[in-house]
Amino acid sequence: YGDYNQKIDYVFKVVLIGDSAVGKTQLLARFSRNQFNVDSKATIGVEFQTKTLIIDNKTVKAQIWDTAGQESGSMYDGSIWWGLGYRAVTSAYYRGAVGAMLVYDMTKRQSFDHMSRWLEELRGHADTNIVIMLIGNKCDLGTLRAVPTEDAQEFAQRENLFFMETSALESTNVETAFLTILTEIYRLIS
Ligand code: GDP
Repeated sequence: YGDYNQKIDYVFKVVLIGDSAVGKTQLLARFSRNQFNVDSKATIGVEFQTKTLIIDNKTVKAQIWDTAGQESGSMYDGSIWWGLGYRAVTSAYYRGAVGAMLVYDMTKRQSFDHMSRWLEELRGHADTNIVIMLIGNKCDLGTLRAVPTEDAQEFAQRENLFFMETSALESTNVETAFLTILTEIYRLIS
């Protein structure tokens, strides 16, 4: 029960990364405001959203960062992949993050194939104890699936990541995914 005027015990910064158009912004909108905006890229200027929740009787403020506001979520021009690239924002984006969600679109094989590169960039910039969750988004588009669940599970296991398939559109597993990563972060810190 939210008495959100009470003091905040923890602030957890979690970053969303992955190729452009995989649904990062919509996952965040779903989690933080229970919204889904069809065809909206109008989040320019917003760097993060917060949501306060109670975990184990502690007040945890989740501060979720999205790459919205940049020209594109990831720098991939069809042949060369740059990650967030050589931008001034890159280290600021990862700095202080205790969790990361690596998001791919399960109907776009390429967005999954890029996960290892995103992971590399993440591990190059973030704290070694960061909790990472692999997210296969758009599971409502089951008939267009291009990434078998087992492929993602195998990758997640090998890289020691949590894994979940979600739909920001239908609200499937979104809350669960965020709660899982935040609870895991809490377990590590407390
Ligand atoms: P971002 O660039 O990773 O932030 O991706 P967006 O959140 O802007 O989403 C890109 C496109 O995918 C938009 O047209 C969204 O409406 C759509 N989208 C996002 N999440 C889902 C989902 O769970 N299911 C479906 N069917 N479409 C989604």
